[in-house]
Amino acid sequence: MNTVGQDFYPSSEKTLIISNSSIAEKISKVVGAKILPLKAALDPQTPFNRFELVIYVCAVPIAVRAIAKLQLDKAKDPAIVCVDETLAHCVVLLGAHKGGNQAARYLETTLNIQPVITTASDLIGAPALDQIPNYHVQGDLASVQRRINETKPVTLIANDSKEVPKVLDALPNLDDNRQDYVIEVERHGAHLRGESNKGHVLLTKRRLVLGLGCSSDCSPDELSQLVQNSLGMINADLTQVLSAATIDIRKSHPAVLSLGLEVKTYGADQLRNVQVPNPSQVVDDVVGTTSVAEAACLLGASVGGKLVLEKQRSAKATVAIAQTQNRGTVSVVGIGPGSPLLRTRKSEIALRTAEVVIGFEGYLNLCDDALTPGQLRLSYKIGDEIERVDRAINEAANGATVALVCSGDPGVYAMASLLFERRSILAKAESFDVEVVPGVTAALAAASTSGAILGHDHAYISLSDLLTPWALIKEALIKIAPTHLALIFYNPRSKNRQHQFREAMEIMQSIRGAETPVLVAKAVSRVGQRTWITSIGNLDEETIDMETVVIVGGPWTVVDKDVIYTRRGYKGPSD
Ligand code: SAH
Repeated sequence: MNTVGQDFYPSSEKTLIISNSSIAEKISKVVGAKILPLKAALDPQTPFNRFELVIYVCAVPIAVRAIAKLQLDKAKDPAIVCVDETLAHCVVLLGAHKGGNQAARYLETTLNIQPVITTASDLIGAPALDQIPNYHVQGDLASVQRRINETKPVTLIANDSKEVPKVLDALPNLDDNRQDYVIEVERHGAHLRGESNKGHVLLTKRRLVLGLGCSSDCSPDELSQLVQNSLGMINADLTQVLSAATIDIRKSHPAVLSLGLEVKTYGADQLRNVQVPNPSQVVDDVVGTTSVAEAACLLGASVGGKLVLEKQRSAKATVAIAQTQNRGTVSVVGIGPGSPLLRTRKSEIALRTAEVVIGFEGYLNLCDDALTPGQLRLSYKIGDEIERVDRAINEAANGATVALVCSGDPGVYAMASLLFERRSILAKAESFDVEVVPGVTAALAAASTSGAILGHDHAYISLSDLLTPWALIKEALIKIAPTHLALIFYNPRSKNRQHQFREAMEIMQSIRGAETPVLVAKAVSRVGQRTWITSIGNLDEETIDMETVVIVGGPWTVVDKDVIYTRRGYKGPSD
């Protein structure tokens, strides 16, 4: 079964590359997927609907003829893109809103392949109803989406304004009295009105979490049947399911994976602490907790979640269902230094599943390939960090899932600590959840470009005196300089802040000496990356700006041609 809007693309296991050309290996390197020759891909036995994304590397006519021979089904087929053999263009052929457009944008950021996108909503920046994270859409999508793309009025009907997806805030006209075009937002179990649903779409928030338990030899059919029956008992179906949850040892069980849902997993020690109505000693004897299905779905549904169906069982499987509360979250997401290749998968999932994405405009551009037109994007100028954080807090307190985007790691000179400060000042700590999603900080990416300068003890210091008095920064530098620590300088020098870097290097030179090796890394993993090795004495301060990390080595730092590393003090066999 195909996964729609749950787990993030590109997942290497769910992507297939089809090509006879060796150039496809370049794509395989950034996507991580297997390459199949064209002929093998035409074999009707190739299970296409096991994949979320298929990338043809060949001429478009060849790909189109190949696809025409497959028996595809709109609900299940993967997104399909075609890249020409010179890697100049990537054409989105199928499933534009099921990962196709994102795949094209990902290939643009990683390999500079020009995307060819033909879906109107993406081109004119209109919200796409079938791309709204955590919502299921049904009805006359084509007409209502066309109407939105034309920026003409539509009518919004909702019982509860908190249920309305945030991206609809971006619609200019929501007050059409004629009600020819209607977007209806319902909790669940709602039906499209009338015989014909012309001009009418229904958006339903996915809020059910399936708790799954199964024995190691449970078949996919058995689990799937039990899931269908269990959902039927509460008048629900798979379109309302947000995710599945189970014990960690069942993470890769074929029956669990075959449901095609995002799977959250928990250890026996976590599950054991959850109060459940039907604990079982037999289960405890086998896996070390008295409940898997009930406990896992309650954990998966997070704070405020409640059990809506107690444990159901078949011979080898158990299913329970919990419902999430309409409780917001702020994920403070680190997107790494720049390239998508240095992003964590968890941060990609957080970016893709957020309803509201907030960040400095430059950072939103860096992660554009992971965002969708179903999200409300709020981009800010540099400097208005408090406004940004407060907006994230207010949106989450109203029930939204928010990604607050930071470069590198969100806990390193970034927004995570400010978020905790502001939620306490605004007395909103209880009204939403916070998740800090780590990223690769600039120092680690910088060091890796040229060896291993951070191989031993090191310290970070920011030279920005906007928030810390310069006297304190200087005092710290004077104390650290005589130690063996390599020293990483963030925010080293800007147009209006230049003497600090000069003074810092003077301190380092007077204590560590002019010969001390230095790594300078600019725009790491971004367009225009430049890195070089020098010494404090030879460092040209004019080359240092706010997109640069400067790392000053310690006494154990060694330069070996184009590599700089810090020894860890190992003794060789002859010592
Ligand atoms: N949270 C970020 C740091 C923000 S402070 C992180 O963990 O990386 C901003 C400073 O980080 C910049 O002035 C620069 O010194 C450094 N920086 C961030 N990204 C960088 C990159 N791609 N290349 C070089 N330096 C970078």
